[in-house]
Amino acid sequence: MSQPEIPKQCKAGVVVNEGPDFHVEVQMVDVPEPKDDEVLLKLNATGLCMSDVHFMMNDWAVPPMSTFNTKCAGHEGAGVVVKVGKNVTDWAVGDRGGVKPLWDVCHNCEECWNGRENYCQKAVYTGLVATGTYQQYITSPAKYTSRIPDGVPDEVAGPIMCSASTMHRALIDSGLKPGQWVVFPGGGGGVGIQGVQLAK
Ligand SMILES: [Zn+2]
Ligand SMILES: [Zn+2]
Repeated sequence: MSQPEIPKQCKAGVVVNEGPDFHVEVQMVDVPEPKDDEVLLKLNATGLCMSDVHFMMNDWAVPPMSTFNTKCAGHEGAGVVVKVGKNVTDWAVGDRGGVKPLWDVCHNCEECWNGRENYCQKAVYTGLVATGTYQQYITSPAKYTSRIPDGVPDEVAGPIMCSASTMHRALIDSGLKPGQWVVFPGGGGGVGIQGVQLAK
């Protein structure tokens, strides 16, 4: 595949006036350079998650985005690889990839070894500690980038990274079997409605 043209700058939805009266403004930001073990993704879609609003409002018990120099929220990105770092062998330009709420984890603790990496003490949160998906080009660790299969449109793949995967895991852990009933309190919301579809 021919090398895609990568601009020096790209559009981003930047949080302005972080806090209860924040707003999001489209600004130009530098396109990041992937490190040796990272890929550069050109995002085609991002979901919008209520957690993004909390990070931008700074009303959760986590340090504000500005502590980490993070301008963009967002953690449901879907796009295509446009550049790979020099140690990356299993991703190629043109592969479809997505970014989820955890930008990376340590891959080497009891939680990570047991499929509970959302409890990893060294997890790096996308859109808080790492730049979020309200940005056209972002980097992602090659070994923790999610593959997106053909046939799944980007606007569907994006929200699967957070809300649908939250429900998917809950349904797996519940041990539900075909024919059983399941109830979703708040089933009309973004997470619940995907739970209903997955359970069906
Ligand atoms: Zn989310
Ligand atoms: Zn870990």
